[in-house]
Amino acid sequence: MNKPKFLCDRMLGKLATWLRISGYDTVYVGDLKLNNRRKEDTFILNSFKDRILLTRDRELYNRCISSRRDAIFIKSDSVEGQIREMIELGFDFQIVMDRCSVCNSPLRKPSENETMRVLRRERIEEDLRERYELWYCEKCDKLYWMGGHWRNMVGFLDRIYS
Ligand SMILES: [Zn+2]
Repeated sequence: MNKPKFLCDRMLGKLATWLRISGYDTVYVGDLKLNNRRKEDTFILNSFKDRILLTRDRELYNRCISSRRDAIFIKSDSVEGQIREMIELGFDFQIVMDRCSVCNSPLRKPSENETMRVLRRERIEEDLRERYELWYCEKCDKLYWMGGHWRNMVGFLDRIYS
């Protein structure tokens, strides 16, 4: 089954990050550098139509529905509440190393050169690569691994699901 793809409005940056962490292909409007609000709404209505729009803006939501653009109105201000709403609608949140949380690009295994370059630049101990499986975002030149940050995120989701 294909995972649904999303377009998040400017209010939903944190939710966009969590969707990417959970493997959903997610475009965040705030990343697109559109310069004004009016243009942004028009853009949202007319672009990425294969994606479900997630929005906190009731008016924009209504415009989407009347122009038959697939959209979900998100009620909560907090990312926990937003994730709960998505879970109630049947979407699943689970940390998978599929997508970069920063830029949405697919992750892959790093080469030895890429690993060493990033570890040295970030002043991370080189034995990290023996202790953890690593993933790499080519666009951000960034490594991911299931370390302390990952455990905190797992804990956050566990609390939401419990
Ligand atoms: Zn990236």
